[in-house]
Amino acid sequence: MLTITLKPGKEKSLLRRHPWIFPTAIDRIEGKPEEKNKPGATVLVRAADGRFLARAAYSPKSQIRARAWSFDENEPVDHALIKRRVKHALAYRMAAVRDTDAIRLIFGEADGFPGLVVDWYAGRDGYLVCQFQSAGVEAWKTAIVQALIAETGCPNVYERSDASVREREGLPLVTGPLAGREPDGETVVTENGVRYAVDIKTGHKTGFYIDQRDNRRLVMEQAAGRDVLNCFCYTGGFSLAALKGGAQSVVSIDSSGEALAIGERNVALNGFDATKAAWWDADVFKTLRALREQGKSFDLIVLDPPKFAAAPDQVERAARAYKDINLIGLQLLRAGGLLFTYSCSGAISADLFQKIVAGAANDARVDARILRRLSAGADHPMTTSFPEGEYLKGLMLHKP
Ligand code: SAH
Repeated sequence: MLTITLKPGKEKSLLRRHPWIFPTAIDRIEGKPEEKNKPGATVLVRAADGRFLARAAYSPKSQIRARAWSFDENEPVDHALIKRRVKHALAYRMAAVRDTDAIRLIFGEADGFPGLVVDWYAGRDGYLVCQFQSAGVEAWKTAIVQALIAETGCPNVYERSDASVREREGLPLVTGPLAGREPDGETVVTENGVRYAVDIKTGHKTGFYIDQRDNRRLVMEQAAGRDVLNCFCYTGGFSLAALKGGAQSVVSIDSSGEALAIGERNVALNGFDATKAAWWDADVFKTLRALREQGKSFDLIVLDPPKFAAAPDQVERAARAYKDINLIGLQLLRAGGLLFTYSCSGAISADLFQKIVAGAANDARVDARILRRLSAGADHPMTTSFPEGEYLKGLMLHKP
């Protein structure tokens, strides 16, 4: 087997069970030449003194040169490991997640599958939608698909490995069916009593932002009688939740016409009053300014923008963008109103996000109360060893 020996002192993060091994930590790689060029090959990782550290998946082209499968010397990387981990991931979701049939079944590193995302839509007759984002899970694709089908009883598996992170692993972008029936049109899921159409083949990521489930529920609980503004609405996740919760009106803004069209159809799908819902195909930054100039105001505002900072060197620019929309959001909010504001940038910590929002509140001369700190749902588990898994953070603010 291929063996990686680390430089002295570079074993520390692996001893803390952090799964990533960077080239700068590696002293030497020993093995047959054909193994050294094989993406996803299992590699033994040793400390400088020869101690066992981990078995990992080797990725010759990636900046993350290897990702640990296991820190247990007695645990081989085989079909049984794959099956065991899928079983655990499923059992955990069955215990931790309710009121939905849109579930993140595998959340990468947190489930012992570095680089793998699997979302399960619409039960056994629905679809498992996979993103293979590292050489390791790519190499075990067939075994993973078999285990997913066996454990869930859902025979339909679709691949959405079209995220650009694949290119950093030297993997091509691919989409298409891996097993069973291919999605034909939209798949309908039901979350907290609301029906949503999901476009598995061409929607964002795997089609739906499952991570906001609990936060959509919070908005549902607070929406009664309120005028709601949902910025970066995509297919109307928060908008539909607000309508279900009895909102008086909901304005939803997004720059994707296709997403808005699904949002509008979602209103009909639920039998909600379409006259209460306006869908604007527009740029949020410009529209917030226009609303301010027109003297408009709302009782509940949601700001759930795309990832503004994709890398640490974009944090400063992203911080300005977050501050900008939060400042205007707070200005547009009526007294007694609620702001639900989010960042899904992994490079921006919850602490930093709160500071940015505090800066916006200060400039807006609002002494906002933080009613809650928000995060992704339980099917996106955060682990103590992998802080990178905590990417979604948010605040529920009250304007006095
Ligand atoms: N809140 C949504 C997910 C939002 S994803 C949900 O719960 O489902 C971010 C969305 O922002 C995407 O739909 C994208 O089309 C949109 N977007 C990105 N930049 C934008 C801009 N400048 N103005 C309006 N929408 C934008």
